[in-house]
Amino acid sequence: MLILGGTTEARQLAERLTGRADLTVTLSLAGRTTAPAPHPVPVRVGGFGGSEGLAAYLGAQRIDALVDATHPYAAAISANAAAAAPRAGVALLALRRAGWTPTAGDRWIEVADAAQAARALGNIPRCVLLALGRNAIEPFATAPHHRYLVRSVEPIVPPLRVPHAVYITGRGPFAEADERALIAQHRIEVIVAKNSGGPATYGKIAAARALGLPVVMLRRPSLPDVEAVATVDDAVAWLDHRCTAMRGV
Ligand code: NAP
Repeated sequence: MLILGGTTEARQLAERLTGRADLTVTLSLAGRTTAPAPHPVPVRVGGFGGSEGLAAYLGAQRIDALVDATHPYAAAISANAAAAAPRAGVALLALRRAGWTPTAGDRWIEVADAAQAARALGNIPRCVLLALGRNAIEPFATAPHHRYLVRSVEPIVPPLRVPHAVYITGRGPFAEADERALIAQHRIEVIVAKNSGGPATYGKIAAARALGLPVVMLRRPSLPDVEAVATVDDAVAWLDHRCTAMRGV
């Protein structure tokens, strides 16, 4: 089987499947991070060359099952998986963690994308925490009057074309108390975030709520309509079911 990864859940699924005699597992990474977290199964790195390339890979490697455990904002690879799996005759499951929902005290401003988020920050200069990752920050160059604290896993090169930006690197999990300290240290007034879901990056959302700060939240992109589960346990159950069915053939 092949796991499309780059997420905590993909790594956890791989951990759950190591040592199983009935499965040969490979995990695929896009290759965005220079020092990816270690994985307990063989890892291949880099794009496949669109859905056709992925279909060819699935056929050549004689993959029976594909689990798309990529990040909910990685819409292109998920679309490729949905197109390639039926073409290659491979069973596909999407493992998609649930998004966060606002609770009492949250001040979310939901926007479609980073360009809309940049506009939503308004004309008055503010101190902004950009917690979007590297690939979504370019549109904030259109709002150079704000002061930005930019956090990403990898360094931002080249930097954002704005006069006031500070860059920090970090990989979650981020605890709420640490996020509150960061917000205080940099006098952050508003946070821009993706609705990633899961506990690892929720600290900033909880901190914003506690401090009464607004969060400009990028809505999730639309993802292909394929069979999907929200937890690693359910993904393992799906695989068990498929393995049983295949043994019966
Ligand atoms: P994307 O826009 O959906 O994908 C762009 C291209 O990158 C794909 O067409 C594919 O190239 C390649 N690719 C993406 N994921 C891949 C994988 N797991 N294995 C092999 N190739 C992959 O993806 P993205 O948003 O740039 O995210 C890239 C990776 O970072 C994903 O693995 C994702 O899980 C992880 N990630 C993303 C975010 C986020 O906010 N977007 C956050 C955390 C982690 P080809 O068409 O050439 O096959």
